[in-house]
Amino acid sequence: MVEKSLTEYTPLSILKKYYGYTSFRRNQQEIINAILEGRDALCIMPTGGGKSICYQVPAMLLEGITIVISPLISLMKDQVDTLNSIGVPAVYINSTVSQSDQVMMMDEISQGMYKMVYVSPERMESNQFLNFLQQLPISLIAVDEAHCISQWGHDFRPSYAKIGRLIQQLSPRPIIAAFTATATKTVAEDIKKGLLLHSPQDFVSGYERENLAFSVVKTGNKRKYILDFIHNFKGESGIIYTATRKDVEELHGFLEKNGIKTVTYHGGMSEAIRNDHQERFIFDDEKIIIATNAFGMGIDKSNVRYVLHYQLPKSMEGYYQEAGRAGRDGENSECVLLFSSKDVQTQKYLIEQSTSYDDRKEHEYSKLQAMVDYCHTTKCLQTFIVNYFGDESSSECGKCSNCKSDLAEIDVTTEALKIFSCVVRMKERFGVTLIAQVLRGSNNKRIKELGLDQLTTYGIMKDKTEKEISEMTQLFIAEGYLALTTGQYPTVKLTENALSVLKHGEKVLQKIKPVKKEEPVHSELFEILRQVRRELAEREKLPPYIIFSDVTLKEMCKFY
Ligand code: ADP
Ligand code: MG
Ligand code: ZN
Repeated sequence: MVEKSLTEYTPLSILKKYYGYTSFRRNQQEIINAILEGRDALCIMPTGGGKSICYQVPAMLLEGITIVISPLISLMKDQVDTLNSIGVPAVYINSTVSQSDQVMMMDEISQGMYKMVYVSPERMESNQFLNFLQQLPISLIAVDEAHCISQWGHDFRPSYAKIGRLIQQLSPRPIIAAFTATATKTVAEDIKKGLLLHSPQDFVSGYERENLAFSVVKTGNKRKYILDFIHNFKGESGIIYTATRKDVEELHGFLEKNGIKTVTYHGGMSEAIRNDHQERFIFDDEKIIIATNAFGMGIDKSNVRYVLHYQLPKSMEGYYQEAGRAGRDGENSECVLLFSSKDVQTQKYLIEQSTSYDDRKEHEYSKLQAMVDYCHTTKCLQTFIVNYFGDESSSECGKCSNCKSDLAEIDVTTEALKIFSCVVRMKERFGVTLIAQVLRGSNNKRIKELGLDQLTTYGIMKDKTEKEISEMTQLFIAEGYLALTTGQYPTVKLTENALSVLKHGEKVLQKIKPVKKEEPVHSELFEILRQVRRELAEREKLPPYIIFSDVTLKEMCKFY
């Protein structure tokens, strides 16, 4: 039982007494105050930011009982065990608890023996359970991982969508507080509507995680990279995420052969073994866990020094949540993503397999594209991420692979003009690969069949490799000059940004590896741009001179 005198405590003294921490982290105090004042709240705080304390502390200070809705059995158990170990009476009721134990626990709950009761969203759907709740003095309902409520989140759970209606039936209505690490604007709206929050106070802690260093690594030999990496982090805890169960097993075998012990975790393993592996990792008996995205929700292991992604994840939301499991203790940690374009195809294949609804597919393709853009951008990676989630920061973290690269910004206007022109000449009907092949002047059969070797832009970048050209094109996509249509075979289109370059000769600066000096093709480019101008004029139904003048053109091509 919690001592009676608890009402004399303040949030801060609870924090010190029970958790042994000396101060609150960003927004914790404010969230706790709002709840204690009886307000609903929507709290968005990055993974590892300390959401649990935001509902546990009020739970101890409020009279009556707090119900915590939590999506995972392992998560409930962890939290309840921790609470019990610090002397807070909490309990969970889920399918792992025997029927007779449930009856006993419900009896104890009615007698006021617990301050916090953890339940799954599915449990809330049971009429019997709801009747039981109606008898209790419930002061607060905390909905953890609340993004599961939204179709547009990345972990949709149908039973979450029903919670709002169910808790409506409780009278008097408890305070409702929702917590999640990742919510775009749409998802945040879905949470508020879905839970029927009453003019909730919003708390958005910046998405930034200062102690994490992000990198994107493009290597032809991922396994060797991982070996070297682990070698540098000897004795440290790390998580390696792979896209499939098969990859988990194969990588595990490979590392074993090289004398590195790891444990595995994926949905194809029995629950007993999975739990065993998880515990061994959490309690530091094993340093490295190789897992699919089935691993980790709600895992609270503070000393994870790195999270390595063996392949591209399918969304930024998923990535940031997984990567965010590094460095919960605030110490510097690494988040590395190993990129290869082959993995983009794998993810597309998975999207095609997973759903037959077109708008759903469309949505997943655009999430994937953001992930691909992340891999191609030359901006600060931390900034790219927080911008994705809607923070308008433009700072530089100073420690990601882009901030640390010594690439200087160089003028790539000529390259941009060539690529953009080629896109126009190809009528915006083709993908990155074909565009690069045309610019490179490739002899491949398909190009001939399609007659693309007849285009004036054919071969105008023959001094570069196809790979260099497609990387540059990807970069222009990532930086918003070009855009890809969604779908399995996306085609490249110009955006307003590219049109401004074509129309007004705006300069394009990018951080890239120094490009080789150009052959003097300026007169050729001048002719191409005249042609492109006619096409654009036709498309936009404007007289050619409105688009740009020969003088501007000559300046753009440095052709006088
Ligand atoms: P989240 O649910 O937001 O991912 P958790 O609630 O699991 O994060 O908290 C992450 C870690 O941070 C936990 O180990 C927790 O004990 C710790 N933590 C939370 N608040 C504080 C604080 N004010 N001071 C120090 N550590 C904290
Ligand atoms: Mg949590
Ligand atoms: Zn950076």
